[in-house]
Amino acid sequence: MIWLAIILGLLGLWLWRRSNALRASTGLPWRAVVYHDTTRRELSKPLFSARYQLTGKPDYVLADGKALIPVEVKPQRQATSPRQGDILQLAAYCLLLEEATGVAPRYGLLRYAQHTFQVDWTDQLYQALIETLAIMRADLTLTEVERSHEEPWRCNACGFGDRCTDALEYD
Ligand code: SF4
Repeated sequence: MIWLAIILGLLGLWLWRRSNALRASTGLPWRAVVYHDTTRRELSKPLFSARYQLTGKPDYVLADGKALIPVEVKPQRQATSPRQGDILQLAAYCLLLEEATGVAPRYGLLRYAQHTFQVDWTDQLYQALIETLAIMRADLTLTEVERSHEEPWRCNACGFGDRCTDALEYD
């Protein structure tokens, strides 16, 4: 019987060390995961705000007391500072969670390949998001829209490359 207790104790110690190592490798804080979108049940239900006509689904939502923290994971991103588009995407999730729960997240988390960034959900970020949404909606009514080539590699992988007159040429 004593051997069984020792084996169970060692197993428990191994599992504890393994979970700590896994947590450290994600770079995310140690909080309860409320939901993450790799499970089928949650995948079918993105967040939606009728007031803002906005919908979206963060990769993870972590519990922070009564508030929730959205987490967006970009495992291929190697940057050492968060990109503006990713910040705005995370801001949209903060707004959606605030709308859904009535409690504003204090921040969201952006996880890149090597770094995790905390993005505070501030009045300034809310304003930037609202202004960006207004610009995007105005663009929807345009008949001519200039292509952005800020990320040239996208042309190389784009499915419209053979029909698009603005496609960048690759050898
Ligand atoms: S091929 Fe055209 S549509 Fe596709 S990424 Fe390039 S510019 Fe955009």
